[in-house]
Amino acid sequence: MSQKKLIQTRVRNAIKVFSFDVDGTLVSHGFVDCVWLQGIPEAYAEKEGLSFEHAFECVKKEYDKIGENRIEWYKIDYWLRKFGLSITREELFRKYEGEIKIYEEVESVLRVLKEEGYLLVVSSNAATEFIDFQIHPIKKFFSRIFSATSDCGEVKKSNAFYARVCGILDVKPQEVIHIGDHWVFDFINPRKIGMNAYYLDRKSKRGRSVSVKNDEFVISDLSEILDK
Ligand SMILES: [Mg+2]
Repeated sequence: MSQKKLIQTRVRNAIKVFSFDVDGTLVSHGFVDCVWLQGIPEAYAEKEGLSFEHAFECVKKEYDKIGENRIEWYKIDYWLRKFGLSITREELFRKYEGEIKIYEEVESVLRVLKEEGYLLVVSSNAATEFIDFQIHPIKKFFSRIFSATSDCGEVKKSNAFYARVCGILDVKPQEVIHIGDHWVFDFINPRKIGMNAYYLDRKSKRGRSVSVKNDEFVISDLSEILDK
């Protein structure tokens, strides 16, 4: 056996957990975008008697004032209250349920990993309610769902967040493989604490990627993880 093969086998034997990001990794961004950029402005337009365009500008301005570095940004109930909207989160979610798109290969990959005895978890930046609603059909594969914003009060997936995940699961970072589509929050940060991470670049398959990143740890869809 070659040195490289030997190392790969050793790494594989040490792995106990597969961790997945959600938006852009398990599901496309369609649903989330519709809720924030269509549903909320639409409800606001109706309430204030504004055109959609005008309401969109107002809503966007308020989003920007808070910004993604504050925890409120991620909390839908905060925004419904702030804009004084009578539509509930459930109604809003149901309205765009049809926009949820779980990527094609996801279910079969999760099934294979699960059958091979790995523990599967979600490690996402999104609020728990967004995660639960979007991954509903594949939720059965996951043993735990970790939301940086809802569970840890963090706005980004930091190395501390990943350390906490390992602590709760009672595994070493080296025993976990995390996969996600954000270079820093899904690749650099988990690697900082010694997790194995793969960067998912779905665009690279269609030859549109301008990425110069280390190919060994870049995949273009989740099924590639089964070959690694
Ligand atoms: Mg993502």
